[in-house]
Amino acid sequence: MLLMSTLTQDHDAIPGNAGLSYKQHPPEGEWDAIAIGSGIGALAAAALLAERAGKRVLVLERHYTAGGFTHVFHRPGYEWDVGVHYIGQMGAGSPIRALFDEITEGRLKWNAMPEVYDRIRIADRSYDFVSGAERFTQRMQEYFPQEGAAIRRYVAQVRDAAGAGSLFFAEKAIPAALARVAGPLMRRRFLSYARRTTAETLAGLTANRELIAVLTGQWGDYGLPPGQSSFGMHAVIAEHYLEGAFYPVGGASRIAASIAPAIERAGGRILVGAEVEQILLDARSRATGVRMADGRELHAPLILSDAGAWNTYARLLPPNAPGRAQALAEIERIPVSMAHLSLYVGLRRDPGEPEFGDTNLWIYPSADHDANLARYAADPEQPFPGMFISFPSAKDPDFARRHPGRATIEVVTLAPYGWFERWADTRWKRRGEDYDALKQRLAERLRAELERHVPAVRGKIDHCELSTPLSTRQFANYHQGQIYGPAATPERFRARALSPRTPIPNLYLTGADAAVLGVAGALSGGALAASAVLRRNVMAGR
Ligand SMILES: Cc1cc2nc3c(=O)[nH]c(=O)nc-3n(C[C@H](O)[C@H](O)[C@H](O)COP(=O)(O)OP(=O)(O)OC[C@H]3O[C@@H](n4cnc5c(N)ncnc54)[C@H](O)[C@@H]3O)c2cc1C
Repeated sequence: MLLMSTLTQDHDAIPGNAGLSYKQHPPEGEWDAIAIGSGIGALAAAALLAERAGKRVLVLERHYTAGGFTHVFHRPGYEWDVGVHYIGQMGAGSPIRALFDEITEGRLKWNAMPEVYDRIRIADRSYDFVSGAERFTQRMQEYFPQEGAAIRRYVAQVRDAAGAGSLFFAEKAIPAALARVAGPLMRRRFLSYARRTTAETLAGLTANRELIAVLTGQWGDYGLPPGQSSFGMHAVIAEHYLEGAFYPVGGASRIAASIAPAIERAGGRILVGAEVEQILLDARSRATGVRMADGRELHAPLILSDAGAWNTYARLLPPNAPGRAQALAEIERIPVSMAHLSLYVGLRRDPGEPEFGDTNLWIYPSADHDANLARYAADPEQPFPGMFISFPSAKDPDFARRHPGRATIEVVTLAPYGWFERWADTRWKRRGEDYDALKQRLAERLRAELERHVPAVRGKIDHCELSTPLSTRQFANYHQGQIYGPAATPERFRARALSPRTPIPNLYLTGADAAVLGVAGALSGGALAASAVLRRNVMAGR
């Protein structure tokens, strides 16, 4: 059965999901802060402000469920993650792990993926990404024996660039006056990497095109091929997974559900179905509250926006807000990242039958990632420029308890928003026959690719459902259905507006756009926002 509906259904309370209905539980009383959106960036900032400073934070989420891209959706017998496939740096001793442990108060458990967490397939050739920098280096040297020195220099540069990122991102949380003085020095080292493309940097290390294609085989994790992406972005992601990957036990919905108690204990609340229409400013242009889509006004002396930088400056702030035009111009100079398609697959699995897979698969038609993408963007009938196949049920030791006899797979690829734009103003589930036909065609192609690369699924597929860029637009409020907000080009890292600091007193950005994309990136955005508000580095511990 091929169901062609989009991501989610509008129902109120889903077991295990955080958040109460805004309609049924209208907010009353006083709030120390209001967070717009409930992605990991908002939840992390809210929990840190609650735990470190006792602040009552009202989290307002327009979707029917909390978590932003960490939310899950359900169909009878199944559940799928929308934006969480694997997360790095969750091993003991990692600062990201410590931060997660703090805001979830240790409730969230992490399951390590197998030692080979990513497998890169280029045409008929296959390369494994093994966890651990040493083992990774060794494995790459086994594949490319002539390239040992280049591989070692590559790993060293990835580590150096990602290490320099700490100071670069910390600069975003220090007071503006201090940033004017110390900022250039704090940013310099990371920018020396980030201003070059990934392709330029790798070309300086090796001329072996196959090796370059393998080392950049995770480019889908940041949505831009090597010729366009910043090496700073590449390094942050490559380093993120270098020691291996993890998955939240109980699925991605456990993330929001595990953070909610810390927010609620301080008197805060998470409300869903709560769309913010505008940020309210007083006569002195300070943020003082929000106006909801239903006209209600809510007030707080501190506003955190997790709705994305573009939404915040273009849609939520009044046009005459000071500094808005300049920040927006800077954000709009950066292209938005490409949109994506996700095929959500549900399978029947007999008792004792092995999993359909566990290692993530990255499938590429050839070693030239940039050319593959350009060809496909110009003609949708060309091969997918990269496909990511993930086996979420196999990563979650608790899945079989919740959904016995079932398994899930997700197949993700990119797709230009322009292919779908003409249906942007149609209604969900009523977009028309031509739209349904395009979806059907894309879903069938993705399904065929899945059956080709994972033959064990043949005859086992019970449910298949495609999300398009219009789903991302509708349910996650990314205006061009983009997968990651601003594209990870070199220019993205020069933009000063992508920071928790804003020109509006009492307004802070949080989430991926305040730091960098990815769950850990958006979490760091939350920590930076909390640090900027509290004027102390929350990452340094209590
Ligand atoms: C397909 C896909 C796969 C991914 N896989 C991974 C992965 O495996 N590992 C990884 O680390 N990262 C992954 N990511 C990226 C990661 O999920 C995101 O970068 C991160 O979760 C973003 O968090 P955020 O807090 O910045 O924003 P979001 O999660 O986007 O949350 C923002 C929230 O704000 C809400 N909002 C917007 N406007 C309003 C408004 N006006 N009023 C109220 N609410 C509003 C939105 O509805 C949304 O819930 C993936 C992303 C996608 C799309």
